[in-house]
Amino acid sequence: MTEPNHKPIAVLGGGATGLAAAYKLTQLGRRVRLFEASPRLGGSVRSERTDGWLVEAGPNTILENHRDIIELVRELDLDTERVVGSQTAKNRYIIREGKLHSVPMSPLSLWRTSLLSGRSKRKLATELLANPQERERDIVLAEFVATHFGQEIVDYVLNPFVSGVYAGDPAQLSTRHTFPQLLESEASHGSLIRGQIAQAKARRARGEPKSRIVSFRDGLQTLTDALARRLPDGTTELNATVENIRTALGAPWRVTWSRDGSLHTEEFGAVVLALPASALAKLSFGVDAHRSLAELDEVVHPPVTSLFLGFRREQVAHPLDGFGALIPAIEKRKLLGVLFSSTLFPGRAPDGHVALTVMIGGATRPELAALPAEELRAHVMAELRELLGVTGEPVFHRLNQWPRAIPQYNLGYERFLDKIATVEQLYGGLFIGGQTRNGIALPNCLRAGLTLGEKAAR
Ligand SMILES: Cc1cc2nc3c(=O)[nH]c(=O)nc-3n(C[C@H](O)[C@H](O)[C@H](O)COP(=O)(O)OP(=O)(O)OC[C@H]3O[C@@H](n4cnc5c(N)ncnc54)[C@H](O)[C@@H]3O)c2cc1C
Repeated sequence: MTEPNHKPIAVLGGGATGLAAAYKLTQLGRRVRLFEASPRLGGSVRSERTDGWLVEAGPNTILENHRDIIELVRELDLDTERVVGSQTAKNRYIIREGKLHSVPMSPLSLWRTSLLSGRSKRKLATELLANPQERERDIVLAEFVATHFGQEIVDYVLNPFVSGVYAGDPAQLSTRHTFPQLLESEASHGSLIRGQIAQAKARRARGEPKSRIVSFRDGLQTLTDALARRLPDGTTELNATVENIRTALGAPWRVTWSRDGSLHTEEFGAVVLALPASALAKLSFGVDAHRSLAELDEVVHPPVTSLFLGFRREQVAHPLDGFGALIPAIEKRKLLGVLFSSTLFPGRAPDGHVALTVMIGGATRPELAALPAEELRAHVMAELRELLGVTGEPVFHRLNQWPRAIPQYNLGYERFLDKIATVEQLYGGLFIGGQTRNGIALPNCLRAGLTLGEKAAR
């Protein structure tokens, strides 16, 4: 129930995190104002339906592996809109020496795969015998995985996998902040393989849902749109850039936002910050207008460009029988990877056509993301001809550039997390979360938003 003496709560940032926070606050009966700097809600989530094509500008899939997300989808009446990744998409490819190799998903296929040498296969078998160990210090992912499986697995399994998730560089990413479950496996079982099997078993025993790759008939924006629709009229302020947030002991928060050069100030009981690191860094806080999170400007965000390409079916020789193909950095190609979008989910291309989504740039090849559109498309087409047997020109294309795509949880990332925690503790009624703090995957951001909303409502 709304308590009349409760001041409204400000949510800053209208991406998935901010929308989930505002939704939760509304559900809990609190008055909310949501400020978004751009002309639209959704942040990185952007889906476009055009002439039978469905383009995802940002995230393409979510891993539905937590009850909170399943419940959110249900609460928003989106069960009938939800689509599960096709059975065929269980097949995944990695490129080695210009050829697509299926990623082995069973012990037998692992033994047979041409992706790895006999030496790496033997290493996988002996890793099962590793002894448990506690590490005193964090370590970069590449080094961590190399100690267990050797360099070939770092180059041909870890590197493409990390590119696919973070557009990141495993030689920079922190194990503790990206895949803490691997450290837990090592500490409890020694072997990462045995540890992962035990963790999966424990998840099943706890009755946790099976992980599925999902989206919605009209793309992931269905989810952020549905959250936005649940907010009462007058909640959202678009084209509203928050400039500073001030408070003095016991006084309400004063949020100052600008639009078209004019400044507006409103008072709130609490403030939820669901902003990217660069925006948190710019914000001035408190009575003395101090940029308390200025350090967050140093969080690395490599650029990523996503190129959606549509072809007539007969223009692509490859059967596109999988999720897509990832390309290890060691292969020295222009692409990070290509998703077989029309295999993954139904309705992504008109009848008789197929859709591919190519990712370029990331931490290992940032300069490529900024190439002019024509040059970039030429590079991509040359590689697709070679790798997938594509002929002719695409019948449809869309380019989406993300100059600061995904925050990299690199070694030493705890200094940013500590700073956020310190600032949050310093000021009462301040709640900070989202991709900089709670994990970069969209479900993490949604869950973070729900939690922020719950905390801010108390
Ligand atoms: C190309 C790409 C592909 C991805 N692929 C996947 C994927 O397949 N699966 C997956 O799970 N995740 C994926 N992600 C990650 C995921 O989409 C993001 O981590 C998540 O959407 C971030 O949500 P957020 O709300 O925390 O931040 P954002 O979406 O960045 O939202 C923050 C909002 O704050 C606004 N803002 C900034 N400054 C101000 C200000 N001063 N005042 C007011 N508003 C402000 C911004 O305009 C923005 O709308 C991908 C991301 C990208 C970029």
